[in-house]
Amino acid sequence: MRSHEAGALHAEGYGGPPLYLPHPDDVMALLPQLWPETVRRDAEGRLTVAGVDVVSLAREYGTAAYVLDEQDFRSRARAFRDGFADAFAQVCGGADVYYAGKAFLCTSVARWVAEEGLSLDVCSGGELAVARRAGFPPERIGFHGNNKSVEEIRAALEYGVGRIVLDSFTEIERVADVATSLGVVAPVMIRVTVGVEAHTHEFIATGHEDQKFGFSLSEGQALEAARTVLAHDRLDLRGLHSHIGSQIFDTGGFELSARRLVGLHRQVATELGHHSPEIDLGGGFGMAYTSQHTPLPPEHLAAQLADIVRHEFAALGDEALTRVPRVSVEPGRAIVGPSTFTLYEVGTVKEVQLGDLHSRAYVSVDGGMSDNVRPALYEADYSCTLASRSSDAAPMLARVVGKHCESGDIVVQDEWLPADTRPGDLIAVPGTGAYCRALSSQYNHTPRPPVLAVRDGAARVLVRRETIDDLLALDVGSS
Ligand SMILES: *Cc1c(COP(=O)(O)O)cnc(C)c1O
Repeated sequence: MRSHEAGALHAEGYGGPPLYLPHPDDVMALLPQLWPETVRRDAEGRLTVAGVDVVSLAREYGTAAYVLDEQDFRSRARAFRDGFADAFAQVCGGADVYYAGKAFLCTSVARWVAEEGLSLDVCSGGELAVARRAGFPPERIGFHGNNKSVEEIRAALEYGVGRIVLDSFTEIERVADVATSLGVVAPVMIRVTVGVEAHTHEFIATGHEDQKFGFSLSEGQALEAARTVLAHDRLDLRGLHSHIGSQIFDTGGFELSARRLVGLHRQVATELGHHSPEIDLGGGFGMAYTSQHTPLPPEHLAAQLADIVRHEFAALGDEALTRVPRVSVEPGRAIVGPSTFTLYEVGTVKEVQLGDLHSRAYVSVDGGMSDNVRPALYEADYSCTLASRSSDAAPMLARVVGKHCESGDIVVQDEWLPADTRPGDLIAVPGTGAYCRALSSQYNHTPRPPVLAVRDGAARVLVRRETIDDLLALDVGSS
């Protein structure tokens, strides 16, 4: 998966800009599709979000900081909710959208998700604890993971989650045992490995699946899992589930996975006599990190997926079409990713000559792979802009790097910045809402940045900045 997740259009070799990043006419221009919806530039050239300028944000809360546009998050969540409800209304009476909390979760975000009428996926006891703290309605929670502990399963069943997605035969017995000991019936889904792997711009269909998640379809394991679940009276089989990848732009992968999932759904009905009430197509819908990416608007995506599901059931005959199970999807990145940018302060600027034609400015900021590991992990591309002032200087090709002791500590691989970019300037990197704070570390004993929410001209802290005392508090060896 690793290298596929990034955009691939780098023109390697001569050290110039990648193909998707031509020399800009206006280096201060903002590409609207990359920024949260309330972001603007004011008369002084400062970036503002929901009416709050980033220079005041930096003064009050420091840098580095994740800045989340609450209105943007809520409207994307609503666009998914409404887009899927509308598109699937005629197919199966609507569809449920589970926000994938692993992309980014805190109690406020869990509350927004609940308020906007979405459901929530968690995949660990920790994420479940956040949902509980937020008072998230338990029946709207799905619990994922390939190795849930007995304690996690117990916590989920005690809270009353709406579905546990089963991942192995061991887990079927484990969940049945915990349900028995609690005297409850566990609602479960079966995660199916459909043999489709989707990446940014393509998908591949593989005969057998070499990965840790789910029950394989080709080996007949998934049908056997359904049989095993149905034999347990403490398990209630809600349906089948598949998740084929992340940062996907092409619905071809969903078409094939839906076909295979629907085929199995029918086999469960005809061979085991069980009509599952639900079917889940997973998440992985792409977002724009740079101009290379053009995601489908949620309503178009929903319409395409609804067509696919209708088509697959229609192929089974008219009777099947009247019994389409309720569909759910699980977007994470596409909802929270674009809602957030990271604000950094420039510390140093260093010019490096690349042959006769090109040079590159290395712009070092006060963060890096500890707050966004995706460039190091997946060669993910990001963009950025000078955020604290205007500039008439010519564009220079820059690489924004972090402060960590790794040469792979890159924040933005390639970007045009004004040639007068200097220490003390603020740089904003959009598209950092998903898998940045969630995957952050304390590498080099770096306290993690805060998450700030901005709405209607006011900012507030959702997750506070870590302190050196927080770090030292874990180190109990010195006292
Ligand atoms: C990660 C994950 C998602 C969300 O993926 P995104 O790329 O953030 O949309 C949804 N479902 C499952 C099972 C996942 O593991």
